[in-house]
Amino acid sequence: MKNYFDLHTHSSESDGILNPEELVSSAKSAGIEYLALTDHDTVSGIQQAKISGEALGVNVIPAIELSCTWSGVGIHIVGLHIDVHAKSMVNGVAQQKAARAERSELIAARLEKKGIEAPLEGAQRHAGGDLVTRPHFAAYLVEKGYVTSINAAFRRYLGAGKCGDVKQFWPEMDEVVRWILQSGGIPVLAHPKRYKMTNTKRRRLVEVFCDAGGQALEVISGSQTADETRYLADLAEHFGLYASAGSDFHNPEWPWHSLGGFGKLPPQCKMVPLS
Ligand code: AMP
Ligand code: MN
Ligand code: MN
Ligand code: MN
Repeated sequence: MKNYFDLHTHSSESDGILNPEELVSSAKSAGIEYLALTDHDTVSGIQQAKISGEALGVNVIPAIELSCTWSGVGIHIVGLHIDVHAKSMVNGVAQQKAARAERSELIAARLEKKGIEAPLEGAQRHAGGDLVTRPHFAAYLVEKGYVTSINAAFRRYLGAGKCGDVKQFWPEMDEVVRWILQSGGIPVLAHPKRYKMTNTKRRRLVEVFCDAGGQALEVISGSQTADETRYLADLAEHFGLYASAGSDFHNPEWPWHSLGGFGKLPPQCKMVPLS
């Protein structure tokens, strides 16, 4: 199903394949009128995306996907409509950048212990900059033949519970929610069904998110079942949260995460503001 908006997408400024200009142009071709660029822990692509959006008639929403933890679990909070120049966001992004640098060193050290050669240099090369993500390590592991696919890299080295799953450098959830609020943005709990936890704990997560000032739930993230959508729409309604929806687009070759290609929000949902 096609939507005229997509509120969760990545560019090559984090772990996406397309640069901001290519992303906006692909969004235009896909019929997107409102596009949030939500790169992991950086706003470095927003300006270029805005310029391309103005040229092509796509409304680019300045946004970010911030890494944090709650109760020992890695959580992602999207901030929509942020002022990228606000002091709290500038400082927050700088803190995340330093955290990612330290984290990539620890991940690399652990991979070296497992016999992987020069993982940090390899991941940095795939990152093409200093924002190194686990998919960049994964790409290097595939390139050097340690594993045969990105999926296998996560299964064996980088996914939950594996040596590359390092969360200790991320701030607590309430802190990143505060950065978003202080920069005039709307905090959105990203892909709530993707966290490995019981539904009881998930409700508690949403409750704590609300108490911290959270305002929206990502009711739809890429392709998902009707049951998941119903569950999350009910959860958003119960807590009085806006509903957001996005593809979590990273790569044009991933059909489950195509631009605007996700189900319709149920009518009970209170749609998060697009402008
Ligand atoms: P990081 O922000 O460095 O922790 O990297 C997390 C990113 O890795 C996520 O945003 C996804 O894009 C990607 N990712 C997580 N799990 C997997 C997986 N099993 N297979 C492929 N990519 C994954
Ligand atoms: Mn990602
Ligand atoms: Mn995420
Ligand atoms: Mn994402």
